[in-house]
Amino acid sequence: NEQSYRWQRVLLKVSGEALAGDQMQNIDPKVTMAIAREVATVTRLGIEVAIVVGGGNIFRGSSWAGCSGLDRSSADYIGMLATVMNAIFLQATMESIGIPTRVQTAFRMSEVAEPYIRRRAVRHLEKGRVVIFAAGTGNPFFTTDTAAALRCAEINAQVVLKATNVDGVYDDDPRRNPNARLLEDLTYQEVTSKDLSVMDMTAITLCQENNIPAFMGEMSGSLVLREAKLGLIALSFFITVVVFNLSKPGNIAKAIKGERVGTLIGG
Ligand code: UDP
Repeated sequence: NEQSYRWQRVLLKVSGEALAGDQMQNIDPKVTMAIAREVATVTRLGIEVAIVVGGGNIFRGSSWAGCSGLDRSSADYIGMLATVMNAIFLQATMESIGIPTRVQTAFRMSEVAEPYIRRRAVRHLEKGRVVIFAAGTGNPFFTTDTAAALRCAEINAQVVLKATNVDGVYDDDPRRNPNARLLEDLTYQEVTSKDLSVMDMTAITLCQENNIPAFMGEMSGSLVLREAKLGLIALSFFITVVVFNLSKPGNIAKAIKGERVGTLIGG
């Protein structure tokens, strides 16, 4: 029964690093299969799942631009192409166990995948298909975390579930400090003021105050405020973010069903 779950539509962010697992190869098929299985269990419950994949396991634009002399934009385009490889791998894995899946890319590669079309993505979700968003935002100088926040807002998903290799957000690096404490609830204010590394700032800001662009573009600030006071438009809404460990079996399904795992950031 879909009503009994906390979220109806979720945006799952899977980083490239997570896909690599502990393999020497770029992608560990055990990891993609584990993700596919958990996504399958929740789609059967009627929860709609969209996924943004990263590409850091194959190519990270910022590091290459630094060490190779490549200009940043070219390096970032290669990084975005890397996310498409991950997306197709994940799609093929999901379809191998019978989950209907569509890949949509932020720039056209129409022989390989659909172009990103918001309404079409939403329609796929309504039909119970998993939609994988690839190629990030389509723009250099951004990250797939920002793409996750952006797509989440666009398709009206209720939460960004950020699957990582740690249990959530800590007050210090748990790999270096054994006394680091897991923070279970955080506000965006705390994330930004304490400079906690959850997502990059662009992504956090997008999550924190997501203006409705159609209104913002057309109206002056005061008009927006007046409309907001009248309750005609929401000036900002908050996207909740859950950060959790994907390498623990069952965690993805738990996070998607809205059970407590990792750190919840909101408000
Ligand atoms: N990238 C980009 N624009 C985007 C998203 C990604 O240019 O909107 C590039 C960037 O070079 C980045 C690479 O794609 O380093 C892989 O994405 P990301 O580092 O976010 O992947 P993750 O850390 O999740 O594996």
